[in-house]
Amino acid sequence: MSDESKMQNPPASSPAQTRRDFIKVSAVTMAALTAATRQAEAASRWLNPRRIQKAAATSLDQDVKQVHSTCLGCNARCGTRATVQNGRLVAMSGNPYHPYNTKFSPISYATPLRQALAVTAPVCGKAHDAPNYLNNPYRIVQPMKRAGKRGSGRFEPIEWDQLVREVATGGKLFAHLGEQREVPGIKGLAKDTLIDKDAPELGTVRNGFVFIAGRDQNGRLEFTNRFVKDAVGSVNRVGHTDICGIGFRMGNLAFTEKKEVEIKADPVNAEYILLFGANIYEALQPGVNTYGALVANRSSGAKLKFTVVDPRATNASCHADEWVAVKPGQDGAFAMGLIRWIIETGRYNREFLAAPNPNAADKIGHACYSNATHLVIADQGHLHDRKFLRVADLDPGATGEAGKGYLVLNGEGLPVPFDSLGQALLDAAATLTDAAGGTIRVKTAFRLMKEGAWEHSLDDYARMSGVERGQMERVAREFTSHGTRAAVCQYHGAGNYASGVYAAFPIAIRNALIGSVDRKGGYLRGGGEAAPWNSGLYDLKSFPGQAKAKGVMLSREKASYETSSEFKKKRASGGSGYPAQRPWFPFTQGGLCVETLSGIDQSYPYPCQVLFSYFFNPLYSIPGGQRYSETLESFEKVPLHVSIDIGINESNLYADYIVPDITYLEGHYGFLSPHAPALKFTAIRTPVVEPVTGSTKDGRAFSLETFLIDLAKGAGLPGFGDAAIQGKDGARHPLHRAEDYYLRGIANLADAAKVPEAVAEEVAFVEHNYPVARHKGLLNDREWRTACYALARGGVFNRRYEDDFGGEQHRFGLKRVVLYNEELATTRNSLSGAFFPGTVKYLPPEDAAGNVLAEKDASYPFALITYKMNLHAQSRTSSHRWSMEVFPENFVVVNEGDAGELGVTDGDLVQLTSASNPRGTRGKVKVSALIRPGCVGISFHYGHTQLGASALPVTRGETLFLGGSEVVNSAGLIGDPRLGTGISPNLLSRLDENLGNTPLVDVVGGIPDFSSTRVNIRKIVR
Ligand code: SF4
Repeated sequence: MSDESKMQNPPASSPAQTRRDFIKVSAVTMAALTAATRQAEAASRWLNPRRIQKAAATSLDQDVKQVHSTCLGCNARCGTRATVQNGRLVAMSGNPYHPYNTKFSPISYATPLRQALAVTAPVCGKAHDAPNYLNNPYRIVQPMKRAGKRGSGRFEPIEWDQLVREVATGGKLFAHLGEQREVPGIKGLAKDTLIDKDAPELGTVRNGFVFIAGRDQNGRLEFTNRFVKDAVGSVNRVGHTDICGIGFRMGNLAFTEKKEVEIKADPVNAEYILLFGANIYEALQPGVNTYGALVANRSSGAKLKFTVVDPRATNASCHADEWVAVKPGQDGAFAMGLIRWIIETGRYNREFLAAPNPNAADKIGHACYSNATHLVIADQGHLHDRKFLRVADLDPGATGEAGKGYLVLNGEGLPVPFDSLGQALLDAAATLTDAAGGTIRVKTAFRLMKEGAWEHSLDDYARMSGVERGQMERVAREFTSHGTRAAVCQYHGAGNYASGVYAAFPIAIRNALIGSVDRKGGYLRGGGEAAPWNSGLYDLKSFPGQAKAKGVMLSREKASYETSSEFKKKRASGGSGYPAQRPWFPFTQGGLCVETLSGIDQSYPYPCQVLFSYFFNPLYSIPGGQRYSETLESFEKVPLHVSIDIGINESNLYADYIVPDITYLEGHYGFLSPHAPALKFTAIRTPVVEPVTGSTKDGRAFSLETFLIDLAKGAGLPGFGDAAIQGKDGARHPLHRAEDYYLRGIANLADAAKVPEAVAEEVAFVEHNYPVARHKGLLNDREWRTACYALARGGVFNRRYEDDFGGEQHRFGLKRVVLYNEELATTRNSLSGAFFPGTVKYLPPEDAAGNVLAEKDASYPFALITYKMNLHAQSRTSSHRWSMEVFPENFVVVNEGDAGELGVTDGDLVQLTSASNPRGTRGKVKVSALIRPGCVGISFHYGHTQLGASALPVTRGETLFLGGSEVVNSAGLIGDPRLGTGISPNLLSRLDENLGNTPLVDVVGGIPDFSSTRVNIRKIVR
């Protein structure tokens, strides 16, 4: 069979039961069976999904099952309707009860299921590839242990019990490979010995256990917290928010005083949306079939205008009013120019900004107010310089709450409590006298913001952002031409680079300038979950013996350097205390996997002992992540590395053990609340098919949950096993399998949301169609029937978009936003000791030593930008065979003018090099008018070296991989080069030589840099 024809009929889907049966039979019989079965499967595997779906949609057919669940093709969390025929997933469509599949207008939650099954709803292209993701022959189904050097790809299968025993207790686990070192186990870390008695703030040796999660959603997030924080007692349970898009979140974090990071323009009622780095027709959350579809729908009906600010004309640009081809990393300059123009022309909402308190805002029809009028001490000689002026600063006799109140200036320019009037002076400064006769210079937050914007002229901002001043002014005018029915939608591109906080903060502030925060058609947060799921009928949060995780995280997120022993020692020895060895991040949203890995690399502020990586591929996904191959290879830096994943990727290639996990189609239970904007619901993720992984002797599928449960029991940790879960009635229940936890979570949710009991037909539907129904005996009859009501509908969706508003005001809004953030203003850069600006300021992307990156790498003529394509998620969709058929490879996208100068054309091979990767990497050119001159664009998703792309010398691989002998021969795993096509942009990304040549991050929030790498391009003559 030619390579080409194999791709048309991929050796993919082997249902779980078939695979397990295969493993039991002899090799000879197996070979014969495999050939016959493969032919049969080839004939039936790719049944027309549309035909099956259509047939199933109107019936409760016994052979065709349907399950409403939640997608995890990406993080957008749309609803799904899985169609399963004879145990095999054959098609995915949307859930009509779910707002994300219905452009925010689902069918009524009360609609009987029988009627709902006749209603179809869309999902995006990624979700349609779910059968290929599930049946990927390179999925691992058995636990494996390293059988050679780290990174060699030598693994061998081991028994589950051996895996659990060795990880629990440690020991000389690799003596047979000549490694005589004692490997730490989990059990040995569960002690209260300090890591460093001279630095007690770091915590105990428990923190030597580090768990880093790639894809992290509610459900599994809480379950893993239970193990890491509550059972082992480590603070180091780290997400991956930094690489997911912490930049724009940092702007919102500053804007809302850490209350909210997910805020977006309302696509249902906005008249104008300004998109900053938001690729709404290809990615975003909510996804392309939600936010993108709403915008497309309304803009084509002339109800909505929008502008794309991006160095690349994203697909949405075809409907946009304008494409603003901003320079990479210069969104802040553009935003600052807009702010300056809006203030200069007076086109801001003065009435909203001058309202100094909630009551004043409410009287003029706003649910939210800002601190624009609040007075800030701008007096370097004053003890409270950079802080808000409070009543006690003028009157030391004012104590308690009264003394803490903010002050504003009234119409006469006199200081008065902020809650004592309806409108205060907005653009003002004053010199006040305190009770002791001293003077205090103060400015309003608005004035400070204005001064920040006035540091550069409009022409400067136009030049720095690379946008013509006329276009900047046009966009600013449009943004201010729709009252409060306009807002910004900023996303990954808006601030995911060094100094990105000072791009994303002014972008967010623009919504306050027009008063559209918390307004219909304005800047809205999500409404939150429908009801709690981890408490109520069953307490899933607390248990006897629960540990209290304490100390500094390896990422140093949310920890203050100035309280550290390192700082105090440096101060005591006569210095300023600065710089810290690596940056600390007291003001961050957190989820800093990059700085966690850099901390591990440098054993700072303390060493890692045991690393668990889950659903995580940092070497591929992090800009410059390849640098961590040295880290993961080192026994000193990572004494034990256990990966929990569905395949062998570029990173867990270095692991000591790999634990097979299930996909979201087989488990991965979840309780998903909405992203911004608006809405209030909880979608449920539940299995749609039985797991294809192997199973324990007592029949539990190998998975994250099974591993952590067994490991906790093996290590003698609390919170798992017998009597681990407390019922509301006082009864105690075991936690031996995933469903012991999650099914009780579903019962909690259904009960707290007061959903009715399902009718008999719907109970029968769930019991026939849903794999989770096998465990219904865990609940009493009433609990099961209410759970069935929610399960049958894919979650709790009992509120509509309209219910979220009282008139024009969002009921679940922010209530207060700031132009000046006091906490940020009083936080110091842990490397330089300087304070961070508390309001807007133009700052170019810089390295940790303050060098401007564009100047430092000026000899590299092109700015590298990255992006997502609509048929792929970041790093794990090379198994999406249909997507790969549509787009078999990615390209180095070069502007047509640049292509002419370089002498390249479509398909030419070029070598790209960067300061941090002088050897470089290669890719094929695609010439385009849709990218800014001087930029080169490379999508993610491609350029894999693992996940099936390369051969690996695994031992007895036929039992390790789902594809069995289809993907394994006597030499080990057979690589499929078609899974490794294209180029990975992260190989070129800038490292920071000031910090051990680790991936470059922003020193405020720990933002990894996706936009500051510069490259050279050279045509390869063949
Ligand atoms: S956008 Fe697509 S892949 Fe992402 S959750 Fe929605 S349907 Fe699934």
